[in-house]
Amino acid sequence: MTGPRPQVLVVEDEAAIRRMLVSTLELEGYQVQQASTAREGEALAGNRRIDLFLIDLGLPDRDGIELIRRLRAWTRRPIVVLSARTHESQKVEALDVGADDYVTKPFGVAELHARLRVALRHAARTAGAGETVVRFGGVAVDLAARAVSRDGEAIRLTATQWRLLEVLARHAGRVVTAHQLLHEVWGPGHRDQGHYLRIYVRQLRQRLETDPSRPQHLITETGLGYRLLVDTPDHPGPA
Ligand code: CA
Repeated sequence: MTGPRPQVLVVEDEAAIRRMLVSTLELEGYQVQQASTAREGEALAGNRRIDLFLIDLGLPDRDGIELIRRLRAWTRRPIVVLSARTHESQKVEALDVGADDYVTKPFGVAELHARLRVALRHAARTAGAGETVVRFGGVAVDLAARAVSRDGEAIRLTATQWRLLEVLARHAGRVVTAHQLLHEVWGPGHRDQGHYLRIYVRQLRQRLETDPSRPQHLITETGLGYRLLVDTPDHPGPA
């Protein structure tokens, strides 16, 4: 990694998992702070400059969701949650209260690092507001010009198709819940109209994917929402 080493705060009560996280993160070049309870995590978060939070949802003293909600009251730094596979609804809730992404236990180290890199890169992009063209599979989404092209040819989208693509592109690489998408694209009051989403996602895949029946970029995250996988260098990048 270039520049100062990013500070990660790990909040995880299981000692074995915490130790494993700390050692793999340090090996990857992060500086790591650790906490085993929500209370301890919140105190550390308030006292130090943390670049990224890695938070287990099942904590002994307080729900991880509650910790995320409290952190989001004062910080926009990325939050990645660790969750047990059995708690799908918790993941949705964590994302809805402001977590950026999740890793399901048991997880591979490569997957963990990839998720953290995306979260940090996204935070840097949001802070700098520099990168306005998102690219994937020959498609370029120019967020500033509100234009889409595929292999250099302009693609015309309807207003709703564009809005959906725009929201996914602004969260490139990260999962966006169905609730968030419905809220941002169709507005409040449409939280339960998941069928809108399925219809428009299918339309976007037909316009943008090489094989719409086997999407490589506009990915369904079953039970959660959607993720737009974009072209990124397989290293930390300019962030
Ligand atoms: Ca736990």
